[in-house]
This record gives sequence, structure tokens and C-alpha cells, in this order.
Amino acid sequence: MKRVAILGGGPAGAFAAEQLASAGLATVVFDEKLAWEKPCGGGLTYKAYHQYPFLIDNSTPKKLISETVLAAPHSQPATLRLREPIVIYSRLDLNSLLLDRAQRAGAQLEKTRVLEVNRSGGGWRLLTKAGALDADYCIVATGARNPLRDVGTQLTRADTMAALGYYVPGQRDHIDIQFLPQLEGYIWVFPRCGHLSVGICGKGEPAISLRKRLERYMEEKGLSAKGAAFYSHLLPSLETPAWKKNRVAGDGWMAVGDAAGLVDPITGEGLYYAIRSADLAAKALLSEISGLAGQAYRRMLRRDFAADLEFGSRLAKRVFLGKFLFAAVPARMVQFTHRSPRFAAVMQDLFAGTQSYLDLKKRLLQNLNGSLYEIAMSLGLSRLIPGRARP
Ligand SMILES: Cc1cc2nc3c(=O)[nH]c(=O)nc-3n(C[C@H](O)[C@H](O)[C@H](O)COP(=O)(O)OP(=O)(O)OC[C@H]3O[C@@H](n4cnc5c(N)ncnc54)[C@H](O)[C@@H]3O)c2cc1C
Repeated sequence: MKRVAILGGGPAGAFAAEQLASAGLATVVFDEKLAWEKPCGGGLTYKAYHQYPFLIDNSTPKKLISETVLAAPHSQPATLRLREPIVIYSRLDLNSLLLDRAQRAGAQLEKTRVLEVNRSGGGWRLLTKAGALDADYCIVATGARNPLRDVGTQLTRADTMAALGYYVPGQRDHIDIQFLPQLEGYIWVFPRCGHLSVGICGKGEPAISLRKRLERYMEEKGLSAKGAAFYSHLLPSLETPAWKKNRVAGDGWMAVGDAAGLVDPITGEGLYYAIRSADLAAKALLSEISGLAGQAYRRMLRRDFAADLEFGSRLAKRVFLGKFLFAAVPARMVQFTHRSPRFAAVMQDLFAGTQSYLDLKKRLLQNLNGSLYEIAMSLGLSRLIPGRARP
């Protein structure tokens, strides 16, 4: 293989470029903006920096946050101490870090927009704003708004959610997560260096009404939207059938990150999956002959995390819109976090990214008796518990 073209230089494209260039492949990254402040919370879980330690061991400005306050209607907020901090970057800084690493590994960076990709012979002819270029293989990393129709996930409206917010001047040492009535999504306040990223994501609701919900929340919490920079973007959030027929690879190409729809359908976490999928795509391309790389990549994705995210897509509606013990599930989650150390431990692992969705039900059921016991004790209802009756 003479040359690999990477279309898009966000986290997915930049990391794929670093891996391929370090293995000695001629690698060219095309991004119309290169490093930029992509609309994002910028939060990285323990799972991400544990697997890729350079994401925390570097001199790039970042915030390490070890406390989250969870809130939902009709319940007292719960403070959750995180065993492992969430690392929060501005996206300009994170993208620069990743692109610098790609360049140092030998990748060539081109600041231009890719207009078209056409199969020609056994390879590709790329048309960019700066001219044409031939490549043997394409890695598609153009994000959720992938303009290249023939490659990458075919996102329908049902497979996306709107995500928007404001960068507000201010400082905090904890994350806020607010659940809202009848919303398959949530509000977040992420402290970054020098400002807060305050945002909302929600499925099946127009951006304009999400923005109203967010502004109402900000007003209540004394966070001024006036003069704050507004951001909005699309977040892939695949429905279960879309996971099954997800177009992640084809003849001479593989898609990574948002362009492959690889985002957690419950939390909206996409940074880890962008980097991880880029890693797997590079491994597939380096270990297989190019004709078989796509199949190998699809298998690796499924084994590594896609099956878990697909299962998460089944749970999403129940998590945000379901009922448990006659109350909304988010309210119950907040109450349980507040009152049961066992349940709080599950939440800690969910925030760390170390609790899979496939095992979640089993763990919750195993813990249920213990959690209910802890809740009853914290409410001073010990006399209701058999064997603990007091005179
Ligand atoms: C509001 C919001 C908040 C979020 N918060 C978090 C969070 O806190 N934590 C988390 O893990 N995830 C979060 N996400 C998800 C995360 O932002 C994405 O999953 C992540 O950016 C995906 O990386 P990527 O490289 O696949 O795509 P992107 O970061 O979107 O990068 C795609 C790149 O391709 C370039 N490009 C596109 N088309 C072309 C073209 N034709 N020619 C040249 N270049 C092109 C773009 O300029 C861009 O740089 C959030 C998303 C949103 C919208």
C-alpha cells in the first residue's frame, strides 16, 4: 500500500493517522479546519485514559474532576465521588494534541475540504478544494455531519440527537448532571480551564425546544447565557436496528468515530470510541491484506464495544423515560445514589466507563436486596427489615 488518505482530522482521524504513520505507511490527513473548538463537552472517562495514558500524561491544559452532582425532578440532588476523575479538555487543545502526535509520527496534514471520493482502479481519487490526489485506501473520519454519501454510517433522523450549549465564563470543581421530565437526554455543566461547557442533548426533540430547556435551567442556576458563545452539533445515537446494519466498512474504506455512528446511546460519550475505533481500524489495516481489512475491523468492533453499545441502545428509553417503583427512573437513580453505597458504586463505574451495559442488569439485580436494605436503613426504616425489628 502506497498511501492512506484520512478524511477528517478530529480525534478519530488524528489517532488513526498516528498509528498508521508510526507503522511506516504514507498517511495524509485532510481536515478543512485542522484543530478547532468542535462543539463538545470535552470529557474523557477513566476507560479512555487508562487504555491510552497519553490522554492524561501530557502538558496540555485540562481539568481533572472527581465529583459529580446528579439531579432530577422530585428528588434531592446526590453527590457522587468519582473513584477516578473525569478529564476535561477544550476541544481545540485535545485536537491539537492528537494532530501533533500524528504529525510527529510522520503523517502529512492538509488543511482543505474533501469534496468527493471516487473509486478509481483498485484505489481512490480524492477531490479536495486544493486539488486532486490519489490514494490506495481511505479512512473516513468526517464526524457526525459526514458529507460523503457513499462511505460511512447512513444516519437517519432517528439515529441522531441534537446537542447544544454555551461556553460560560466561570470556574467549578464538580460536574453537574440534570435529568429533565420526559427527555431522552440530559443537561451537563462541565468545568474546563477558564470556562464552563454547559450543554444539553436530547433525542426526538427539536433543537429549539432543547435550547429553551437549557436556558431555563441556566437562568434558575444563575448561569448567564448573555454574551456566552453558543454551540450546537449533531450526536449519533443509533437505534438498535441501525447498529445491526451499520455501514462501517466497504471496498477500500473503513469509517471511524462519529462517521461510523460510534457513540454511547445513553451518555453521548464519543471521544473514547473515536480513538478506540481508529486504533482497531489501523490494526485491521496493518494486519490484513487491504481486501480483508474491512471484515476484520467489523469483527473487532463488535467484540470490543459495538455489541455493548447496541445493547445500550435498547436500554436508553427505559433509562430516561421509564418508571421504577412508581417514579421516573432518573429520579430513582438519583435517590438510590444518595442513599445506597452499593448503587453509588455502580454509578461510579458507569462514570468511569468500566461498567458494561451487557452486565448492568445482572449487577443491579444482584445488588438489589442490598441496595434496598441500605435505602431503608438510611431512611430510618430498619424496623421494616425482617430480623432487624427493634422494640
Ligand atoms: C455538544 C456535544 C457534546 C459532547 N460531549 C462529549 C463529551 O463530553 N465526551 C465525549 O466523549 N464525547 C462527547 N461528544 C461526542 C464527541 O464530540 C464526538 O464523538 C467526537 O468528536 C468524535 O470524533 P470524530 O473524530 O469521529 O469526529 P469529529 O470530532 O467531528 O471530527 C471530524 C473532523 O472531520 C472534519 N471534516 C468533516 N468533513 C470534512 C470534509 N469534507 N473535508 C475535510 N474535513 C472534514 C471536521 O472539520 C472535523 O475536524 C459530544 C458531542 C457533542 C455534539
